[in-house]
Amino acid sequence: MRQSQSFIPTLREVPADAEVKSHQLLLRAGFIRQSASGVYTFLPLGQRVLQKVEAIIREEMNRAGAIELLMPALQPAELWQQSGRWYSYGPELMRLKDRHERDFALGPTHEEMITALVRDEVKTYKRLPLTLYQIQVKFRDEKRPRFGLLRGREFIMKDAYSFHTSQESLDETYNKMYEAYSNIFRRCGLNFRAVIADSGAIGGKDTHEFMVLSDIGEDTIAYSDASDYAANIEMAPVITTYEKSDEPLRDLEKVHTPGQKTIEEVASYLQVTPEKCIKSLLFKVDDRYVLVLVRGDHEANDVKVKNLFDASVVELATPEETKQVMNCEVGSLGPIGVSESVVVVADHAVKAIVNGVCGANEAGYHYVGVNPERDFTVSQYADLRFIQEGDPSPDGKGTIRFARGIEVGHVFKLGTRYSEAMNAVYLDEYGRSQTMIMGCYGIGVSRLVAAIAEQFADENGLVWPAAVAPFDVHLISVNAKNEEQRQLADEWYEKLGQAGLEVLYDDRPERAGVKFADSDLIGIPIRVTVGKRASEGIVEVKVRQTGEAMEVSVNELIDTIRRLL
Ligand code: ATP
Ligand code: MG
Ligand code: MG
Ligand code: MG
Repeated sequence: MRQSQSFIPTLREVPADAEVKSHQLLLRAGFIRQSASGVYTFLPLGQRVLQKVEAIIREEMNRAGAIELLMPALQPAELWQQSGRWYSYGPELMRLKDRHERDFALGPTHEEMITALVRDEVKTYKRLPLTLYQIQVKFRDEKRPRFGLLRGREFIMKDAYSFHTSQESLDETYNKMYEAYSNIFRRCGLNFRAVIADSGAIGGKDTHEFMVLSDIGEDTIAYSDASDYAANIEMAPVITTYEKSDEPLRDLEKVHTPGQKTIEEVASYLQVTPEKCIKSLLFKVDDRYVLVLVRGDHEANDVKVKNLFDASVVELATPEETKQVMNCEVGSLGPIGVSESVVVVADHAVKAIVNGVCGANEAGYHYVGVNPERDFTVSQYADLRFIQEGDPSPDGKGTIRFARGIEVGHVFKLGTRYSEAMNAVYLDEYGRSQTMIMGCYGIGVSRLVAAIAEQFADENGLVWPAAVAPFDVHLISVNAKNEEQRQLADEWYEKLGQAGLEVLYDDRPERAGVKFADSDLIGIPIRVTVGKRASEGIVEVKVRQTGEAMEVSVNELIDTIRRLL
């Protein structure tokens, strides 16, 4: 592509509101432009990188047996009502009405859409397993869109969904996707880590995030320095003290409180006011009992606790409330430091102390008349804390270190969360109706572009790895007005192209300094400069990443480039 005819608006100045390197450089080097907060245009160079990344993703997905389709961004609210997420997703879901006042959402992800599709089209076990994927635009009204492409409100995602008749089949596809993801990020040249992730609001169990290691990452990773153990910090608790009173629960009335209960529900069932409910709970984690008290005004803590315990509801309580109902000094309770309190109603909460009501060690039951002092010893629950650097690794191997990461991919065993809600069933070999088992697998494609830029840059600009670079070669004629130089450059622009190399040809009538500065900024792996020695058929070849430069006869140019790429 001739630069004189392209559209590569570079900037000399660092844009004021761009905080991180990738955002600054992608703007300055003419890859992207912002149109609204968290909404970006991919300029021609940005579009080329995007396409390179997408090509790698497609290759690996296809190789793993996934099949590409394309679903709409505009989704009828009915689908989201069927899954329940219309009500639970919150303000991140972009909602709109059509001219007939019908509700729609702009898809933040496509579980509903794909589940409905497969439900309607696949009726028999013979058509399963099935893995479908798309590369498509997503919308999320993020609270804090920032860092350019890293957290957008409109962004590009590769999302895959798999449908199965058995857990084993899901496991198999999950492992294939995990492999495919590792290949994709490796081929992009990234320094990344797969970590155990939070199964949060979607439910389900096995889930891993793929984290690109970077100081500006919003996630913290706890990893072992001596094994493969790595987890999102949200998922890596250390619980050091946990002891339940051996005293059996006495004089307690067992009441049936079927299913998962919020404080309000439990309170109303027991005919007490929610205010009177103790807002703290005991949990059973791997046969250990843990009392969770975290300050409600620390959103991050709430989320951690919620994730930690797979909780579906987090309720808040003031320290005063806790103190009152627990009938003890709140400060003495403190797993996490306790003038702080929260309530977590976990899916698998074992004992919920709610105004003298205690969750039984049995799903769907609570006890009335629990006395915290008598029925368990609060002070013995005092040492719950989250993992820290220097702790022994939970797998017993090595010591925990922390690193920051950018989440570029996420694989997830969904189970029947969507298929059940949306009635995605099939007939098994005996003609019985069975619910499909699902997995979902996302890659933030546009985020990935920024993550690569974040890892591959120096003080002069971007330094694209060859696999995703917008072009292979940046060909520059130092002086476009010099006939000899221009002719040689023109000639080799054609020849390199014919040899299958992708060439950006800076044929602009600009000063050499401007061209070199732009070239460094843009970061194409190989620069070929046609200058003073054009008459001898000698050009300079320079490697962007290492700065290594050499004079090469044009006869050896193609071989030299191939060797360096
Ligand atoms: P995050 O924790 O960063 O908000 P997420 O866990 O909400 O991401 P997923 O629902 O797992 O995101 O979506 C799959 C992938 O889409 C993520 O792994 C990430 O790479 C990408 N992604 C999510 N939100 C954004 C966004 N706002 N901008 C760009 N990419 C995003
Ligand atoms: Mg998010
Ligand atoms: Mg996440
Ligand atoms: Mg995620």
